[in-house]
Amino acid sequence: MERSTLVVAGAGMVARRLVEALVERDATSRWDVEVYGEEVHAPYDRVALTSYFDLSGPEELLLGDASLWDTPGVTLHTGTAVESVDASARTVVVGGQERRYDALVLATGSYAAVPPVEGADLRGCFVYRTVDDLDALRTWVSEREAALGRPVRGAVVGGGLLGLEAAGALTALGTETTVVEFADRLMPVQVDAGGGEALRRLVEGLGVAVRTSTATSRVVADDAGRVERMEFASGDPLDVDVVVFATGVRPRDELARGAGLAVHPRGGVLADEGCRTSDPAVYAVGEVACVSDRVWGLVGPGYTMAEVVADRLLGGEATFADADLSTKLKLLGVDVASFGDAFGTTPDSLEVVYADPVQGLYKKLVLSDDASTLLGGVLVGDASAYGSLRPLVGHPLGGDPSAWLLPESAEGPTTGALPDAATVCSCNNVTAGTVRCAVTDQGCTDVAGVKACTKAGTSCGSCVPMVKQLLHAQLAEAGIEVGNDLCEHFSLSRAQLFDVVRVSGIRTFSELLTTHGRGRGCDVCRPVAASILASLYQEHVLDGERAALQDTNDHVMANMQKDGTYSVVPRIPGGEVTPEGLIVIGEVAKDFGLYTKITGGQRIDLFGARIEQLPAIWSRLVDAGFESGHAYGKSLRTVKSCVGSTWCRFGVQDSVGLAIALELRYRGLRSPHKIKLGVSGCARECAEARGKDVGVIATDHGWNMYVGGNGGFTPRHAQLFAEDLTTEQLVRAIDRFLMYYVRTADRLQRTAPWVESVEGGIDAIRAVVLDDSLGIAADLDAAMDAHVGGYRDEWAATLEDPEKLRKFASFVNAPDVADPDLAYVPERGQKRPATAEERGVVIGGPTLPVRTAGGPL
Ligand SMILES: Cc1cc2nc3c(=O)[nH]c(=O)nc-3n(C[C@H](O)[C@H](O)[C@H](O)COP(=O)(O)OP(=O)(O)OC[C@H]3O[C@@H](n4cnc5c(N)ncnc54)[C@H](O)[C@@H]3O)c2cc1C
Ligand code: SF4
Repeated sequence: MERSTLVVAGAGMVARRLVEALVERDATSRWDVEVYGEEVHAPYDRVALTSYFDLSGPEELLLGDASLWDTPGVTLHTGTAVESVDASARTVVVGGQERRYDALVLATGSYAAVPPVEGADLRGCFVYRTVDDLDALRTWVSEREAALGRPVRGAVVGGGLLGLEAAGALTALGTETTVVEFADRLMPVQVDAGGGEALRRLVEGLGVAVRTSTATSRVVADDAGRVERMEFASGDPLDVDVVVFATGVRPRDELARGAGLAVHPRGGVLADEGCRTSDPAVYAVGEVACVSDRVWGLVGPGYTMAEVVADRLLGGEATFADADLSTKLKLLGVDVASFGDAFGTTPDSLEVVYADPVQGLYKKLVLSDDASTLLGGVLVGDASAYGSLRPLVGHPLGGDPSAWLLPESAEGPTTGALPDAATVCSCNNVTAGTVRCAVTDQGCTDVAGVKACTKAGTSCGSCVPMVKQLLHAQLAEAGIEVGNDLCEHFSLSRAQLFDVVRVSGIRTFSELLTTHGRGRGCDVCRPVAASILASLYQEHVLDGERAALQDTNDHVMANMQKDGTYSVVPRIPGGEVTPEGLIVIGEVAKDFGLYTKITGGQRIDLFGARIEQLPAIWSRLVDAGFESGHAYGKSLRTVKSCVGSTWCRFGVQDSVGLAIALELRYRGLRSPHKIKLGVSGCARECAEARGKDVGVIATDHGWNMYVGGNGGFTPRHAQLFAEDLTTEQLVRAIDRFLMYYVRTADRLQRTAPWVESVEGGIDAIRAVVLDDSLGIAADLDAAMDAHVGGYRDEWAATLEDPEKLRKFASFVNAPDVADPDLAYVPERGQKRPATAEERGVVIGGPTLPVRTAGGPL
């Protein structure tokens, strides 16, 4: 058969999908595919561009299997732009040479649009579109920081999806960031006024300043021609060292214009439902294409166009009609999602809203006029229901809509309720039925298999939890046992991963991922890896790439409270504190205006600290001999004790002395979940030690040891583990018990369920700990000795390191001024956060306000 030549101009995300679709359909037996990309990299994941700063190089961003480009008949030319197109001669010019084509696909994407603002081209102004843009930005920030000797001040112009991505990246580079948005709210295209307000509070709470309803009028240079200041149509100017413009994109339709092809007046190559342009031999796909009278700024519609063109090139009649423009974004830990008819434009639609400005939650569902069919929604602050709700758009919601919105009750439907036709992955247009078929007909047994088979979850990844649920439900129906893989990036349980790190000596998440995982990791495996590395090596939690792996609380070594401020808990071993220590804590609380409360773990919690106050507070506490209480970490919390034989007339042993020794021994030990211990001086059990993970009760002959107790949702009494141990025997037994738990428990599994999950239960663990039944006792002892010997207070270490201290910045323009949204009222001689009524704001509660699209009822 005579071979034809297909030229693809542009080697971005959609071009890659096109080539993949052609190879899958065996089109290369008929077509020679020549792909020209102006960038020097093979097609990479632009959606995940922000993660580039966490990666070791651009190759980690590359999309899919690199062997695609070795397919016979396929040639990728990187660093090679198509210079022009002659549609009548069916040629393109590349490197000054003419190349003939039988079909041409324009996949040239978009460029970042910069508004016509004076000074927008100064040194220090950037856009946010390519790997090269990010490299240039990073170099500029680090050079300016070194030259200025202080943190760099940055601004992002544009508060949309891209702008917030860029703000996250700037903040991660250590820049004090301000977002400047022309509209009256952030993400105006995706979220409504209520969602915008909640988003603003959350973003500001993370230390990024926000100026809405603000038009940038000019950027002013210093003597050397570098950005120095921004001026606005209204409001004070802003001193800046770097500016990122994230003000939208424009299709790169210059090749089409030069070739005389029809383009839309507002940009974009006009194409019909088969993605064919005004020249029948030329197609347009992705962000450069204007199909159905609009350009589509997301990757999902581009992928559908790629499939359509692959089909057409083989004589098919596939069409592109419409696409899902749902968006989910997680930025600096803030969840935002918008899906379906988010603005309630469908005639007579109803809106159900839940808003809690104090907690930064805003959730809205748009329903059909009979309140049965889900039409769309907006979720800000908690988008956990997105994966379940988005596939239901256009389908009956089933049950009470409020159940989806109220905190703690937003349980998704069972996947059985999801119709086969429901779209689960909107990026790749994959339905629930297709995922189910991948299990039943194609024999897929894990998420990776389903992804490879259907492409579901291979772009933005927000549907992966739903894909996993569907997979597990289908496997369970077929009677197949479901594995305990940590997540889709590691086919290992947490315990197996722990062993891998321990045996291999791997010390970074990137190395672990490269050698034993896949992809870039997620919110599940990243903190687990951080915890494992911290358990094994006594390195600081904020060192190097570890900082980016931590949970929100670990990230700032404090516990975030409902109003976005933090609580500070110094360690008070065994609950014993000197009057001098108490005075220092009291003075710190007074000077910083903190609310104080004695905790259940016998220490003092100081509430209401702003992020930028944490170093100053800790500096005072550390000077007075206090150290981190790790109230934020999955680690040892406290060892509670009664007063014991020292003072109590019933006491038979020194419970305080033992509690202090145990607390100092296990402090800072990172574990699968929090760990609490208790020591009572006699059988009267005043320390409630049997409610702890490890409880110790004094006897006339020594100590009884109990394990597996906890309070919380499912309270458990600890079980007797060993009797009448000497102090030395007791400490070794606790060492081994804890270290065995740290090594083998599942993620977020406390000791009680862990004891139950171990084969042979408590008897088997007792045999390991007391009789060395597995021959690992020496190893467990050595690991605990290494922990004890290597311990260092992480707050003291932070105070000595200017790099780490820079994470504790809040409002860039006024670092010492409190967030005006923080409101307090006095109560019993202290302050507490104001309630909604006290602020004069209405918070939607269990009674949900319902209004029609036309306005309030
Ligand atoms: C930071 C960021 C975050 C994003 N987040 C999301 C998201 O969460 N969800 C989502 O759906 N979308 C997101 N997007 C948008 C998404 O990346 C785009 O929709 C997608 O990349 C479009 O693919 P494309 O192939 O059409 O264009 P591109 O990926 O831009 O590829 C076009 C390529 O063509 C090259 N090119 C241009 N002209 C020529 C020429 N004459 N010759 C040769 N090569 C040429 C360009 O250099 C470029 O490499 C995001 C984009 C960015 C920048
Ligand atoms: S547990 Fe025993 S020793 Fe401790 S305070 Fe109570 S009675 Fe006294």
